Amino acid sequence: MCEGLVDLVQQEAAGRRVTGVRVRIGAGHAVVPEAFGQAFALAAGGTAAQDAELDLVVVPFTLDCRGCGGRTESADALAACPSCGGDVDVTGGDELVLESIRLEGGADVSRHPR
Ligand SMILES: [Zn+2]
Repeated sequence: MCEGLVDLVQQEAAGRRVTGVRVRIGAGHAVVPEAFGQAFALAAGGTAAQDAELDLVVVPFTLDCRGCGGRTESADALAACPSCGGDVDVTGGDELVLESIRLEGGADVSRHPR
């Protein structure tokens, strides 16, 4: 998982030093941020991203209720609506997105501008 991420970071950095990396990760990956950080640091060793600070944004599941139509975000893939107990459609939770990187000198490179 982290090797592909480091490859992406290096492509974006194009040889410049990377000081920060922001990653959005779905709750479905069930990552432990500390463990992910260590794995990233390991994968980034010897690359332009080896000293980068990792900013992990965990994205919750989205639960759409078929009963009341309510939308809930949850870190757990709940099987029932917390409001009415109805069936829910669970979406999200599986993304792994390199949102932006920060380069030495302060330039932000956003891959998903909003
Ligand atoms: Zn409901």
